[in-house]
Amino acid sequence: MTQTDSSRQADITANLAAVRARIAAAAQAAGRDPASITLIAVSKFHNAEAVLPALVAGQCDFGENRVQEAAAKWPPLCENFPECRLHLIGPLQTNKVREAVTLFDAIHTLDRERLARRLADEITASAKSPALFVQVNTGLEPQKAGVAPKDADRFIAQCRVEFGLNICGLMCIPPAQENASPHFKFLAEIAARNGLRQLSMGMSDDFEAAIAHGATHVRIGSAIFGARSQR
Ligand SMILES: *Cc1c(COP(=O)(O)O)cnc(C)c1O
Repeated sequence: MTQTDSSRQADITANLAAVRARIAAAAQAAGRDPASITLIAVSKFHNAEAVLPALVAGQCDFGENRVQEAAAKWPPLCENFPECRLHLIGPLQTNKVREAVTLFDAIHTLDRERLARRLADEITASAKSPALFVQVNTGLEPQKAGVAPKDADRFIAQCRVEFGLNICGLMCIPPAQENASPHFKFLAEIAARNGLRQLSMGMSDDFEAAIAHGATHVRIGSAIFGARSQR
């Protein structure tokens, strides 16, 4: 990294402002209130120094894909910025559910019965109740998490009825090589017929299309923080 920390921090502040402006423009173009869209700044693989300028600029919602990484990075930052909210956007193992429920305000990756059961137990046992999104594998990619679209209605009903979970919406990650719009439209249809109002969809390369299809939560990493050095 040849850039100094302070110039990198200035870039992040400027990137964040540019992304916010693009979200507002996309909302306006779709006839939607920009305030109905939550920007989740995806800070995975970026350290506290990178996250700090975003916090200072008033960014509240942050996404992480690993429980361990979030647990190491965020508690001291949240102490100084108590309004910050953390979103888990990566796969959740059942043995990390307790830690995830403690740490995160929203979990976007609920996708199987065993996880639903563990979440229900943990939410009952603790005072915390994170917002829950069911992840749908709209592209039926074998390597990707998420319930298959044909199982989504049944799984959502099972989460509600059998486990008493309050599901707030759906999440998807469209296949990287495809036009994302049909996937966004598909996810919105599944949500509508299940009475779900929140849609977690749209990343750096496609968030404007996601907003056109009703995204309420866009998850944006590289457009704010730059390229990630690890995978
Ligand atoms: C990394 C990640 C993002 C952010 O991706 P960018 O292309 O960097 O904006 C969004 N959602 C999920 C689930 C991710 O893992």
